[in-house]
Amino acid sequence: MAAPVVTRNGVNEKPHSPVPVFENSPTFSMACRQLEVVAEQIDLDNGVLERLSKPKRALVVSIPVRMDDGRTEGFIGFRVQHSLTSGPSKGGLRYHPSVDLGEVAALAMWMSWKCGLMNLPFGGAKGGVACDPAQLTKGELERLTRRFAEEVHVVIGPRMDVMAPDLGTDEQTMAWIMDTYSMNVGYACPEIVTGKPVELGGCIGRREATGRGVVYCVIEALKELNQKWTESTAVVQGFGNVGSVVAQELHLRGVRVVAVGDRDGSVHNAKGLDIPSLIKHVNSGRSLPEFGQAERIPPEELLTIPCTILVPAALERVITKANASKIKCRVLAEAANGPTTPEADTILSDSDIYLIPDVLCNAGGVTVSYFEWVQDIQQLWWNETQVNQKLEELMLMAFHQVRNVARKRNFTMRTAALSLGIQKIAKEKSRRGLFP
Ligand code: NAD
Repeated sequence: MAAPVVTRNGVNEKPHSPVPVFENSPTFSMACRQLEVVAEQIDLDNGVLERLSKPKRALVVSIPVRMDDGRTEGFIGFRVQHSLTSGPSKGGLRYHPSVDLGEVAALAMWMSWKCGLMNLPFGGAKGGVACDPAQLTKGELERLTRRFAEEVHVVIGPRMDVMAPDLGTDEQTMAWIMDTYSMNVGYACPEIVTGKPVELGGCIGRREATGRGVVYCVIEALKELNQKWTESTAVVQGFGNVGSVVAQELHLRGVRVVAVGDRDGSVHNAKGLDIPSLIKHVNSGRSLPEFGQAERIPPEELLTIPCTILVPAALERVITKANASKIKCRVLAEAANGPTTPEADTILSDSDIYLIPDVLCNAGGVTVSYFEWVQDIQQLWWNETQVNQKLEELMLMAFHQVRNVARKRNFTMRTAALSLGIQKIAKEKSRRGLFP
Protein backbone atom coordinates (compact mmCIF):
# COMPACT_ATOMS: atom_id res chain seq x y z
CA MET A 1 0.00 0.00 0.00
CA ALA A 2 1.36 3.45 -0.84
CA ALA A 3 2.39 5.49 2.20
CA PRO A 4 0.08 8.39 3.02
CA VAL A 5 1.44 11.72 1.90
CA VAL A 6 2.10 14.26 4.62
CA THR A 7 1.42 17.69 3.18
CA ARG A 8 3.18 20.89 4.14
CA ASN A 9 0.15 21.60 6.35
CA GLY A 10 0.94 18.45 8.31
CA VAL A 11 -2.29 16.77 7.22
CA ASN A 12 -2.36 13.27 5.76
CA GLU A 13 -3.84 13.86 2.36
CA LYS A 14 -3.08 13.01 -1.21
CA PRO A 15 -1.49 15.98 -2.98
CA HIS A 16 -3.91 17.50 -5.46
CA SER A 17 -4.33 15.34 -8.49
CA PRO A 18 -4.18 16.48 -12.13
CA VAL A 19 -7.36 16.51 -14.20
CA PRO A 20 -6.91 13.90 -16.97
CA VAL A 21 -9.18 15.70 -19.41
CA PHE A 22 -6.90 18.77 -19.43
CA GLU A 23 -3.59 16.92 -19.00
CA ASN A 24 -2.35 17.57 -22.53
CA SER A 25 -3.02 21.29 -22.49
CA PRO A 26 0.14 23.40 -22.12
CA THR A 27 -1.98 26.41 -21.15
CA PHE A 28 -3.87 24.57 -18.40
CA SER A 29 -0.58 23.05 -17.14
CA MET A 30 0.84 26.56 -17.05
CA ALA A 31 -2.09 27.88 -15.00
CA CYS A 32 -1.80 24.91 -12.57
CA ARG A 33 1.92 25.44 -12.21
CA GLN A 34 1.39 29.09 -11.33
CA LEU A 35 -1.21 28.08 -8.75
CA GLU A 36 1.16 25.50 -7.21
CA VAL A 37 4.02 28.02 -6.95
CA VAL A 38 1.79 30.54 -5.20
CA ALA A 39 0.18 27.88 -2.98
CA GLU A 40 3.66 26.95 -1.74
CA GLN A 41 4.53 30.59 -1.04
CA ILE A 42 1.35 31.41 0.86
CA ASP A 43 1.07 28.02 2.55
CA LEU A 44 -2.36 27.38 1.09
CA ASP A 45 -4.41 24.61 2.69
CA ASN A 46 -4.12 21.47 0.59
CA GLY A 47 -7.84 20.83 0.57
CA VAL A 48 -8.47 24.31 -0.82
CA LEU A 49 -5.66 23.84 -3.36
CA GLU A 50 -7.32 20.62 -4.48
CA ARG A 51 -10.59 22.47 -5.03
CA LEU A 52 -9.01 25.47 -6.76
CA SER A 53 -6.95 23.37 -9.16
CA LYS A 54 -10.04 22.04 -10.96
CA PRO A 55 -12.82 23.93 -12.68
CA LYS A 56 -16.22 23.67 -11.04
CA ARG A 57 -18.01 22.96 -14.29
CA ALA A 58 -17.09 22.47 -17.95
CA LEU A 59 -19.52 22.11 -20.81
CA VAL A 60 -18.56 21.02 -24.33
CA VAL A 61 -21.17 21.62 -27.00
CA SER A 62 -21.51 20.87 -30.67
CA ILE A 63 -22.69 23.81 -32.78
CA PRO A 64 -24.08 22.87 -36.19
CA VAL A 65 -24.29 25.94 -38.42
CA ARG A 66 -26.05 26.39 -41.74
CA MET A 67 -23.40 28.06 -43.91
CA ASP A 68 -24.25 30.62 -46.60
CA ASP A 69 -23.63 28.05 -49.36
CA GLY A 70 -26.21 25.66 -47.87
CA ARG A 71 -23.72 23.23 -46.23
CA THR A 72 -23.98 22.36 -42.54
CA GLU A 73 -20.69 22.80 -40.70
CA GLY A 74 -20.07 21.51 -37.16
CA PHE A 75 -18.13 23.62 -34.65
CA ILE A 76 -17.14 22.76 -31.09
CA GLY A 77 -17.76 25.23 -28.27
CA PHE A 78 -16.79 25.33 -24.60
CA ARG A 79 -17.90 27.10 -21.45
CA VAL A 80 -15.87 26.52 -18.31
CA GLN A 81 -16.77 27.91 -14.89
CA HIS A 82 -13.81 27.74 -12.57
CA SER A 83 -15.39 29.10 -9.42
CA LEU A 84 -18.86 30.13 -8.27
CA THR A 85 -17.81 30.79 -4.68
CA SER A 86 -17.90 34.60 -4.75
CA GLY A 87 -20.93 35.14 -7.00
CA PRO A 88 -21.79 34.44 -10.64
CA SER A 89 -18.86 33.42 -12.78
CA LYS A 90 -17.60 36.01 -15.23
CA GLY A 91 -15.45 35.74 -18.30
CA GLY A 92 -15.05 36.33 -21.99
CA LEU A 93 -16.00 34.31 -25.01
CA ARG A 94 -13.29 33.81 -27.64
CA TYR A 95 -13.48 32.73 -31.25
CA HIS A 96 -10.14 31.37 -32.49
CA PRO A 97 -9.10 28.26 -34.46
CA SER A 98 -6.86 26.96 -31.65
CA VAL A 99 -9.44 27.17 -28.85
CA ASP A 100 -9.64 23.95 -26.84
CA LEU A 101 -10.98 22.81 -23.49
CA GLY A 102 -7.64 23.14 -21.67
CA GLU A 103 -7.04 26.68 -22.90
CA VAL A 104 -10.55 27.74 -21.89
CA ALA A 105 -10.15 26.09 -18.46
CA ALA A 106 -6.85 27.93 -17.88
CA LEU A 107 -8.40 31.25 -18.89
CA ALA A 108 -11.33 30.57 -16.53
CA MET A 109 -8.91 29.95 -13.66
CA TRP A 110 -7.04 33.20 -14.38
CA MET A 111 -10.38 35.03 -14.38
CA SER A 112 -11.01 33.78 -10.84
CA TRP A 113 -7.71 35.20 -9.60
CA LYS A 114 -8.37 38.46 -11.46
CA CYS A 115 -11.84 38.93 -9.96
CA GLY A 116 -10.40 38.04 -6.54
CA LEU A 117 -7.58 40.55 -6.89
CA MET A 118 -10.00 43.31 -7.98
CA ASN A 119 -12.37 42.36 -5.16
CA LEU A 120 -15.29 41.85 -7.56
CA PRO A 121 -18.25 39.65 -6.54
CA PHE A 122 -17.55 37.14 -9.31
CA GLY A 123 -15.86 33.81 -9.89
CA GLY A 124 -13.94 33.07 -13.07
CA ALA A 125 -15.28 31.58 -16.30
CA LYS A 126 -14.34 31.51 -19.97
CA GLY A 127 -15.88 30.30 -23.17
CA GLY A 128 -14.72 29.64 -26.67
CA VAL A 129 -15.59 28.30 -30.06
CA ALA A 130 -12.92 26.74 -32.27
CA CYS A 131 -13.43 28.75 -35.45
CA ASP A 132 -11.77 31.45 -37.52
CA PRO A 133 -14.14 34.42 -37.36
CA ALA A 134 -12.29 36.11 -40.25
CA GLN A 135 -13.41 33.24 -42.53
CA LEU A 136 -17.11 33.47 -41.57
CA THR A 137 -19.70 35.85 -42.96
CA LYS A 138 -21.75 38.01 -40.62
CA GLY A 139 -24.77 35.75 -41.09
CA GLU A 140 -22.72 32.63 -40.29
CA LEU A 141 -21.25 34.30 -37.21
CA GLU A 142 -24.72 35.27 -36.01
CA ARG A 143 -26.09 31.74 -36.44
CA LEU A 144 -23.02 30.24 -34.75
CA THR A 145 -23.30 32.66 -31.81
CA ARG A 146 -27.04 32.17 -31.33
CA ARG A 147 -26.74 28.37 -31.47
CA PHE A 148 -23.82 28.47 -28.99
CA ALA A 149 -25.89 30.68 -26.64
CA GLU A 150 -28.77 28.23 -26.93
CA GLU A 151 -26.54 25.21 -26.20
CA VAL A 152 -24.98 26.77 -23.08
CA HIS A 153 -28.30 28.25 -21.90
CA VAL A 154 -28.49 25.66 -19.10
CA VAL A 155 -25.37 26.99 -17.37
CA ILE A 156 -25.59 30.75 -17.94
CA GLY A 157 -27.68 33.42 -16.23
CA PRO A 158 -27.25 36.88 -14.68
CA ARG A 159 -26.75 35.24 -11.26
CA MET A 160 -24.91 32.17 -12.62
CA ASP A 161 -22.51 33.04 -15.42
CA VAL A 162 -22.13 36.28 -17.39
CA MET A 163 -20.16 36.42 -20.67
CA ALA A 164 -18.18 39.29 -22.23
CA PRO A 165 -16.15 39.81 -25.44
CA ASP A 166 -12.64 38.40 -25.80
CA LEU A 167 -10.36 37.47 -28.69
CA GLY A 168 -12.37 37.35 -31.94
CA THR A 169 -15.68 38.50 -30.43
CA ASP A 170 -17.14 41.98 -29.94
CA GLU A 171 -20.17 44.06 -28.95
CA GLN A 172 -22.25 42.56 -31.76
CA THR A 173 -21.53 39.02 -30.51
CA MET A 174 -22.77 40.07 -27.07
CA ALA A 175 -25.90 41.66 -28.58
CA TRP A 176 -26.79 38.34 -30.30
CA ILE A 177 -26.28 36.42 -27.05
CA MET A 178 -28.37 38.95 -25.12
CA ASP A 179 -31.16 38.66 -27.69
CA THR A 180 -31.08 34.84 -27.79
CA TYR A 181 -31.20 34.59 -24.00
CA SER A 182 -33.94 37.24 -23.76
CA MET A 183 -36.09 35.47 -26.37
CA ASN A 184 -35.76 32.28 -24.31
CA VAL A 185 -36.74 33.78 -20.96
CA GLY A 186 -39.41 36.04 -22.44
CA TYR A 187 -38.16 39.44 -21.29
CA ALA A 188 -35.23 41.74 -22.11
CA CYS A 189 -32.30 40.63 -20.00
CA PRO A 190 -29.32 42.96 -20.62
CA GLU A 191 -27.49 41.73 -17.50
CA ILE A 192 -26.86 38.32 -19.13
CA VAL A 193 -23.75 39.72 -20.89
CA THR A 194 -21.40 42.67 -20.54
CA GLY A 195 -19.49 44.48 -23.27
CA LYS A 196 -22.69 44.84 -25.32
CA PRO A 197 -23.62 47.95 -27.35
CA VAL A 198 -24.45 51.00 -25.22
CA GLU A 199 -27.94 51.21 -26.72
CA LEU A 200 -28.72 47.74 -25.31
CA GLY A 201 -27.56 48.60 -21.79
CA GLY A 202 -23.81 48.45 -22.39
CA CYS A 203 -21.54 50.59 -20.27
CA ILE A 204 -19.94 53.67 -21.81
CA GLY A 205 -16.18 53.10 -21.78
CA ARG A 206 -16.34 49.27 -21.55
CA ARG A 207 -14.77 48.77 -24.98
CA GLU A 208 -11.78 50.92 -24.05
CA ALA A 209 -11.61 49.75 -20.41
CA THR A 210 -9.03 46.96 -20.75
CA GLY A 211 -6.62 49.14 -22.73
CA ARG A 212 -7.11 52.10 -20.38
CA GLY A 213 -6.50 49.89 -17.36
CA VAL A 214 -3.24 48.68 -18.93
CA VAL A 215 -2.12 52.27 -19.40
CA TYR A 216 -3.02 53.26 -15.80
CA CYS A 217 -0.68 50.47 -14.63
CA VAL A 218 2.07 51.53 -17.03
CA ILE A 219 1.83 55.12 -15.72
CA GLU A 220 2.50 53.89 -12.17
CA ALA A 221 5.43 51.72 -13.26
CA LEU A 222 7.03 54.58 -15.22
CA LYS A 223 6.63 56.92 -12.23
CA GLU A 224 8.45 54.43 -10.05
CA LEU A 225 11.22 54.12 -12.62
CA ASN A 226 11.47 57.92 -13.03
CA GLN A 227 10.93 57.44 -16.72
CA LYS A 228 9.32 60.28 -18.72
CA TRP A 229 6.50 59.52 -21.17
CA THR A 230 7.95 61.74 -23.83
CA GLU A 231 11.26 59.90 -23.67
CA SER A 232 9.60 56.49 -23.92
CA THR A 233 8.93 54.14 -26.80
CA ALA A 234 6.43 51.28 -27.05
CA VAL A 235 5.85 48.09 -29.02
CA VAL A 236 2.38 46.53 -29.11
CA GLN A 237 1.55 42.99 -30.29
CA GLY A 238 -2.12 42.73 -31.27
CA PHE A 239 -4.12 45.62 -32.70
CA GLY A 240 -7.65 44.58 -31.79
CA ASN A 241 -9.85 45.85 -29.01
CA VAL A 242 -7.12 45.92 -26.38
CA GLY A 243 -3.95 46.57 -28.41
CA SER A 244 -5.35 49.45 -30.49
CA VAL A 245 -6.64 51.25 -27.37
CA VAL A 246 -3.30 50.80 -25.59
CA ALA A 247 -1.44 52.15 -28.64
CA GLN A 248 -3.85 55.08 -28.90
CA GLU A 249 -3.65 55.98 -25.19
CA LEU A 250 0.16 55.76 -25.19
CA HIS A 251 0.34 57.87 -28.37
CA LEU A 252 -1.95 60.50 -26.78
CA ARG A 253 0.46 60.76 -23.84
CA GLY A 254 3.41 61.42 -26.13
CA VAL A 255 4.94 57.93 -26.17
CA ARG A 256 6.50 56.96 -29.51
CA VAL A 257 4.81 53.70 -30.52
CA VAL A 258 7.55 52.33 -32.79
CA ALA A 259 6.14 48.94 -33.78
CA VAL A 260 2.81 47.14 -33.91
CA GLY A 261 1.81 43.70 -35.12
CA ASP A 262 -1.32 41.65 -35.65
CA ARG A 263 -2.21 38.29 -37.21
CA ASP A 264 -1.42 39.66 -40.70
CA GLY A 265 2.10 40.93 -39.92
CA SER A 266 4.13 43.62 -38.16
CA VAL A 267 5.28 47.15 -38.99
CA HIS A 268 8.05 49.35 -37.58
CA ASN A 269 8.91 53.05 -37.68
CA ALA A 270 11.71 54.24 -35.38
CA LYS A 271 10.31 57.79 -35.48
CA GLY A 272 6.98 56.58 -34.14
CA LEU A 273 3.88 55.32 -35.94
CA ASP A 274 0.98 57.68 -36.56
CA ILE A 275 -1.47 55.63 -34.47
CA PRO A 276 -4.70 57.51 -35.35
CA SER A 277 -3.88 57.00 -39.06
CA LEU A 278 -3.07 53.33 -38.46
CA ILE A 279 -6.41 52.85 -36.66
CA LYS A 280 -8.22 54.51 -39.60
CA HIS A 281 -6.25 52.32 -42.03
CA VAL A 282 -7.19 49.07 -40.22
CA ASN A 283 -10.82 50.16 -39.64
CA SER A 284 -11.17 50.78 -43.37
CA GLY A 285 -10.62 47.04 -43.91
CA ARG A 286 -7.02 47.17 -45.11
CA SER A 287 -4.43 44.87 -43.58
CA LEU A 288 -2.01 46.27 -40.99
CA PRO A 289 1.22 45.44 -42.91
CA GLU A 290 -0.09 47.45 -45.88
CA PHE A 291 0.23 50.65 -43.80
CA GLY A 292 2.40 52.96 -45.89
CA GLN A 293 4.31 55.01 -43.34
CA ALA A 294 6.33 52.12 -41.89
CA GLU A 295 8.54 49.20 -42.87
CA ARG A 296 7.35 45.62 -42.59
CA ILE A 297 9.28 43.41 -40.19
CA PRO A 298 9.12 39.64 -39.59
CA PRO A 299 6.53 38.99 -36.82
CA GLU A 300 9.06 37.06 -34.70
CA GLU A 301 11.18 40.23 -34.41
CA LEU A 302 8.39 42.33 -32.93
CA LEU A 303 8.72 41.33 -29.28
CA THR A 304 12.50 41.71 -29.24
CA ILE A 305 12.65 45.29 -30.54
CA PRO A 306 14.34 47.43 -27.85
CA CYS A 307 11.74 49.74 -26.28
CA THR A 308 10.61 51.22 -22.96
CA ILE A 309 7.16 49.59 -22.87
CA LEU A 310 6.38 46.21 -24.41
CA VAL A 311 2.70 45.24 -24.59
CA PRO A 312 1.71 41.74 -25.71
CA ALA A 313 -2.03 42.17 -26.45
CA ALA A 314 -2.86 39.15 -28.62
CA LEU A 315 -2.40 35.49 -27.71
CA GLU A 316 -1.07 33.49 -24.76
CA ARG A 317 2.39 31.83 -24.58
CA VAL A 318 4.17 34.23 -26.94
CA ILE A 319 7.05 34.98 -24.55
CA THR A 320 8.87 31.68 -24.15
CA LYS A 321 12.28 30.46 -23.09
CA ALA A 322 13.34 30.88 -26.73
CA ASN A 323 12.82 34.66 -26.83
CA ALA A 324 12.64 35.78 -23.16
CA SER A 325 16.34 36.61 -22.87
CA LYS A 326 16.14 38.69 -26.07
CA ILE A 327 13.42 40.98 -24.72
CA LYS A 328 14.80 44.48 -24.24
CA CYS A 329 12.20 46.63 -22.52
CA ARG A 330 11.92 48.42 -19.18
CA VAL A 331 8.24 47.67 -18.58
CA LEU A 332 6.46 44.53 -19.76
CA ALA A 333 2.72 45.14 -19.55
CA GLU A 334 0.81 41.87 -20.04
CA ALA A 335 -2.38 43.05 -21.72
CA ALA A 336 -3.07 39.56 -23.13
CA ASN A 337 -3.93 36.66 -20.85
CA GLY A 338 -1.05 34.28 -20.19
CA PRO A 339 1.47 35.72 -22.69
CA THR A 340 4.49 34.52 -20.67
CA THR A 341 5.30 30.85 -20.07
CA PRO A 342 6.63 29.83 -16.63
CA GLU A 343 10.10 29.13 -18.13
CA ALA A 344 10.18 32.62 -19.63
CA ASP A 345 8.92 34.03 -16.34
CA THR A 346 11.97 32.62 -14.54
CA ILE A 347 14.27 34.24 -17.10
CA LEU A 348 12.47 37.59 -16.84
CA SER A 349 12.47 37.57 -13.04
CA ASP A 350 16.29 37.52 -13.17
CA SER A 351 16.31 40.63 -15.36
CA ASP A 352 15.53 44.23 -14.41
CA ILE A 353 12.31 44.25 -16.45
CA TYR A 354 9.34 45.68 -14.53
CA LEU A 355 6.63 43.11 -15.22
CA ILE A 356 2.97 44.01 -14.77
CA PRO A 357 1.27 40.58 -14.70
CA ASP A 358 -1.86 39.86 -16.75
CA VAL A 359 -4.25 39.32 -13.82
CA LEU A 360 -3.55 42.90 -12.76
CA CYS A 361 -2.65 44.56 -16.06
CA ASN A 362 -5.76 43.64 -18.08
CA ALA A 363 -8.23 43.68 -15.16
CA GLY A 364 -9.79 46.94 -16.40
CA GLY A 365 -12.08 44.96 -18.72
CA VAL A 366 -13.74 42.84 -16.07
CA THR A 367 -13.85 45.82 -13.72
CA VAL A 368 -15.97 47.88 -16.11
CA SER A 369 -17.94 44.72 -16.93
CA TYR A 370 -18.81 44.66 -13.24
CA PHE A 371 -19.96 48.31 -13.49
CA GLU A 372 -22.10 47.33 -16.49
CA TRP A 373 -23.70 44.38 -14.69
CA VAL A 374 -24.50 46.56 -11.65
CA GLN A 375 -26.02 49.28 -13.87
CA ASP A 376 -28.15 46.76 -15.80
CA ILE A 377 -29.50 45.20 -12.61
CA GLN A 378 -30.23 48.61 -11.08
CA GLN A 379 -31.31 50.30 -14.34
CA LEU A 380 -29.20 53.27 -13.28
CA TRP A 381 -26.69 54.72 -15.75
CA TRP A 382 -23.28 56.20 -15.09
CA ASN A 383 -21.56 58.69 -17.40
CA GLU A 384 -18.13 58.17 -18.95
CA THR A 385 -16.34 60.38 -16.42
CA GLN A 386 -17.79 58.36 -13.54
CA VAL A 387 -16.81 55.09 -15.22
CA ASN A 388 -13.25 56.18 -15.98
CA GLN A 389 -12.69 57.70 -12.54
CA LYS A 390 -13.91 54.59 -10.76
CA LEU A 391 -11.87 52.37 -13.09
CA GLU A 392 -8.71 54.36 -12.41
CA GLU A 393 -9.36 54.31 -8.67
CA LEU A 394 -9.79 50.50 -8.56
CA MET A 395 -6.85 49.83 -10.90
CA LEU A 396 -4.51 52.01 -8.84
CA MET A 397 -5.70 50.45 -5.59
CA ALA A 398 -4.98 46.96 -6.94
CA PHE A 399 -1.65 48.04 -8.45
CA HIS A 400 -0.39 49.43 -5.14
CA GLN A 401 -1.67 46.44 -3.16
CA VAL A 402 0.28 44.15 -5.47
CA ARG A 403 3.37 46.39 -5.30
CA ASN A 404 3.25 46.45 -1.48
CA VAL A 405 2.90 42.67 -1.17
CA ALA A 406 5.73 42.18 -3.68
CA ARG A 407 8.00 44.46 -1.65
CA LYS A 408 7.02 43.20 1.78
CA ARG A 409 7.27 39.50 0.96
CA ASN A 410 9.97 39.73 -1.67
CA PHE A 411 7.61 38.22 -4.25
CA THR A 412 7.66 38.84 -7.98
CA MET A 413 4.78 41.05 -9.15
CA ARG A 414 3.10 37.95 -10.63
CA THR A 415 3.30 35.95 -7.42
CA ALA A 416 2.07 38.97 -5.44
CA ALA A 417 -0.92 39.53 -7.76
CA LEU A 418 -1.84 35.86 -7.89
CA SER A 419 -1.45 35.45 -4.13
CA LEU A 420 -3.92 38.28 -3.46
CA GLY A 421 -6.47 36.84 -5.89
CA ILE A 422 -6.07 33.25 -4.72
CA GLN A 423 -6.16 34.13 -1.03
CA LYS A 424 -9.43 36.00 -1.38
CA ILE A 425 -11.18 32.99 -2.92
CA ALA A 426 -9.45 30.56 -0.57
CA LYS A 427 -10.75 32.52 2.45
CA GLU A 428 -14.28 32.53 1.06
CA LYS A 429 -14.12 28.79 0.37
CA SER A 430 -12.88 28.08 3.89
CA ARG A 431 -15.57 30.28 5.49
CA ARG A 432 -18.36 28.70 3.43
CA GLY A 433 -17.05 25.19 4.15
CA LEU A 434 -17.28 22.11 1.99
CA PHE A 435 -20.73 20.91 0.91
CA PRO A 436 -22.24 18.55 2.13
P1 NAD B 1 -9.27 41.07 -30.54
O1 NAD B 1 -9.79 39.90 -31.26
O2 NAD B 1 -10.03 42.33 -30.58
O3 NAD B 1 -7.78 41.38 -31.06
C1 NAD B 1 -6.78 40.41 -31.11
C2 NAD B 1 -5.61 40.94 -31.89
O4 NAD B 1 -4.56 39.98 -31.85
C3 NAD B 1 -5.92 41.19 -33.37
O5 NAD B 1 -5.30 42.39 -33.78
C4 NAD B 1 -5.30 39.98 -34.06
O6 NAD B 1 -4.95 40.24 -35.40
C5 NAD B 1 -4.07 39.79 -33.18
N1 NAD B 1 -3.48 38.46 -33.36
C6 NAD B 1 -4.11 37.27 -33.47
N2 NAD B 1 -3.20 36.30 -33.70
C7 NAD B 1 -1.99 36.89 -33.68
C8 NAD B 1 -0.67 36.44 -33.85
N3 NAD B 1 -0.42 35.14 -34.07
N4 NAD B 1 0.35 37.34 -33.78
C9 NAD B 1 0.11 38.65 -33.57
N5 NAD B 1 -1.14 39.14 -33.40
C10 NAD B 1 -2.15 38.28 -33.47
O7 NAD B 1 -9.01 40.56 -29.03
P2 NAD B 1 -8.84 41.46 -27.75
O8 NAD B 1 -10.16 41.57 -27.09
O9 NAD B 1 -8.06 42.68 -28.07
O10 NAD B 1 -7.98 40.49 -26.82
C11 NAD B 1 -6.56 40.44 -26.89
C12 NAD B 1 -6.01 39.78 -25.64
O11 NAD B 1 -6.43 40.52 -24.49
C13 NAD B 1 -6.47 38.35 -25.39
O12 NAD B 1 -5.43 37.64 -24.76
C14 NAD B 1 -7.61 38.52 -24.44
O13 NAD B 1 -7.85 37.35 -23.67
C15 NAD B 1 -7.08 39.65 -23.59
N6 NAD B 1 -8.09 40.39 -22.85
C16 NAD B 1 -9.12 41.00 -23.51
C17 NAD B 1 -10.07 41.71 -22.78
C18 NAD B 1 -11.17 42.47 -23.45
O14 NAD B 1 -11.86 43.23 -22.76
N7 NAD B 1 -11.36 42.35 -24.74
C19 NAD B 1 -9.98 41.75 -21.39
C20 NAD B 1 -8.93 41.12 -20.75
C21 NAD B 1 -7.98 40.44 -21.50
